[in-house]
Amino acid sequence: MSVLDTASDKPGWSFDTLAVRAGQERSQFGEHSEALYLTSSFVFQNAAQAAARFSGEEPGNVYARFTNPTVTAMQERLAALEGAEGCVATATGMAAILSTVMALMSSGEHIVASRSIFGATQQLFGTILPRFGVDTSFVDNNSVDAFRAAVRPNTKLVFIETPSNPLTEVFDIAALVEVAHAAGALLVVDNCFCTPALQRPLQMGADLVIHSATKYLDGQGRVLGGAVCGTKVLTDEVFKFLRTAGPTLSPFNAWVILKGLETLSVRMTAQSANALELARWLEGQPQVARVHYPGLASHPQHALAMRQQASGGAIVSFEVKGGREAAWRVVDNCRLLSITANLGDTKTTITHPASTTHGRIAAEARAASGIAEGLLRIAVGLESVADLQADLARGLG
Ligand SMILES: *Cc1c(COP(=O)(O)O)cnc(C)c1O
Repeated sequence: MSVLDTASDKPGWSFDTLAVRAGQERSQFGEHSEALYLTSSFVFQNAAQAAARFSGEEPGNVYARFTNPTVTAMQERLAALEGAEGCVATATGMAAILSTVMALMSSGEHIVASRSIFGATQQLFGTILPRFGVDTSFVDNNSVDAFRAAVRPNTKLVFIETPSNPLTEVFDIAALVEVAHAAGALLVVDNCFCTPALQRPLQMGADLVIHSATKYLDGQGRVLGGAVCGTKVLTDEVFKFLRTAGPTLSPFNAWVILKGLETLSVRMTAQSANALELARWLEGQPQVARVHYPGLASHPQHALAMRQQASGGAIVSFEVKGGREAAWRVVDNCRLLSITANLGDTKTTITHPASTTHGRIAAEARAASGIAEGLLRIAVGLESVADLQADLARGLG
């Protein structure tokens, strides 16, 4: 039985039901589709109510930097899907990561992060946070022992992304929970690639889940957004930072993401199935040296991936023979696949990491981390796999 079959904070409602129904609250008009409350502030019946709302004595909306009903609905739906007590929506995925650090850490504390995290997260941890007295040790591989060796007495967060980008390395969430907790730290998982449709880190003991809702939660490349999910105690701290500092999600974006969540499960299932089919086909191409996809038996952590994920996900990377020149030929022959570094869309995208997302890393360091010149990353969408194969075959041939 998959790890996904039991997650729900509403016993009786399955994931698919929660995805369409959780968080919905109808106004007096009885709208069937969720309403978009495009308002920055809220009115009070009298001075006493204003005072009670401001003091927190009476629950309710005050100002949309703090709460807005559309944003609340999206938070509740995502919390239900992650099996989380609390969720705080943020303006972007990076705002979710920054808010987590600002809410939970102080100067003098330390982060252990995998090296293979999102580029902007690496920049934030490696170059911005040190100015505020927060240092990060980056772990170069996915070995649990390497994480254990990197924690210090002042480590507050252990931060991972699994599967990683672009090589789809898989990290053992349950084992890293133990490492983090033994050190008195929290395990934070950026669950952007799998989404709760395929992987629920909180069920495996993780303390917080981070999302770039910009990717699969919206799912159609329309808006930016982010979220932090976890226990109420932790997300309340994140909320206190957010309502004061202001990296709040706009109600419009929350509404788009709320509707995106309704199709999350069907999209992730279909896109993962397409990815597996494409990965198998790529493995059979003579011009392809290697395919990185957790759903393939050839993946070094295939067994672990199948234990903690419902499927391999929708990201496939592969190395073509002939280095950068051969890789660029594949990209330049694409008429269907979109040449963009974005991912999480229903439209399939292709990127050459060594010259785009990882282009600023020194060539030796890039090679050492496995990002070869011939590597291409595909974020598989909903098109027919036959059409995707034909598009790639032109450049491979
Ligand atoms: C895109 C992305 C982010 C950052 O999200 P934004 O919404 O662009 O700020 C963080 N983590 C991962 C894994 C991502 O892919």
